[in-house]
Amino acid sequence: MLTGGKMLHIGLLIALLSMSGPEWSECYEDTFCIEAEDAGNRVDVYVRSLVDWDVTLSMDMELANMQADQQLPQVHSVSSQQRFKALTLKVKDISRSWSFRYDLKWMTGDFKARHAPGVVYELPFGHGVDVLVGQGFHGTETHHGKYAIDFDLPEGTPVRAAREGVVIDVVEGYKKGGVHPAMKIRANYVKIRHEDGTIAQYVHLRHLGAEVAVGDRIRTGELIGYSGNTGFSTGPHLHFEVFSLNKDLTRRTIPITFQTARRGVVHLQEGLYYRRPSSQLTSR
Ligand SMILES: [Zn+2]
Repeated sequence: MLTGGKMLHIGLLIALLSMSGPEWSECYEDTFCIEAEDAGNRVDVYVRSLVDWDVTLSMDMELANMQADQQLPQVHSVSSQQRFKALTLKVKDISRSWSFRYDLKWMTGDFKARHAPGVVYELPFGHGVDVLVGQGFHGTETHHGKYAIDFDLPEGTPVRAAREGVVIDVVEGYKKGGVHPAMKIRANYVKIRHEDGTIAQYVHLRHLGAEVAVGDRIRTGELIGYSGNTGFSTGPHLHFEVFSLNKDLTRRTIPITFQTARRGVVHLQEGLYYRRPSSQLTSR
């Protein structure tokens, strides 16, 4: 009944830049690069994305004999392999030496993403079964402050996309589950980015239980993997949440609704059973 997985992805890096030539760059986890160009009396700092999805960066700086043309720390979302100028550092006194140092944090997701109004999700499993919501929004076990849902699914249940999108992250190498704190980073999962920039995360999949790869475009109802019990978990279930980011890079989960048989479009309630409407299509 517990959440788990690499729910946060923050890098904290410090780089001391002493440019030996007019151009300099440093790349991070094959995700983005910070690039700088020395124009004599100023340095232009660029961010270049290496991936097809959104990353939010927060950049702070320590400056010696320099002044930034933007307020610090700066928060940007960068997407789809774009490159843009983040800021310019002006040299105050060109006759003296200058330097800058930056602190960087980042996380997958776009802090500017807003959930599209009126979007209704499909239950992330197949037809013909009633599935118990073991823990709902703000559940007291592990969903404090979170709009997350735990579906009680036996291990190996096919998990289907609740909404269409593009796969941006897959982890499936973990084998075990348990309630030791060390298990929190050992959940298998799939993350799917929706068109509005929000991200769905399907957590605790079984070992090698993902049936999709990063970059795959997924339709609603399509098989994406098999449920399991990996990571921080008291028993087999699927943890599901949809989120975007806050400006401080914390996760903001979203109170989504589902289409259900018998009860219509609802916020799912802990302790109730739900079934997929028979009219909904699934594939694969
Ligand atoms: Zn959960």
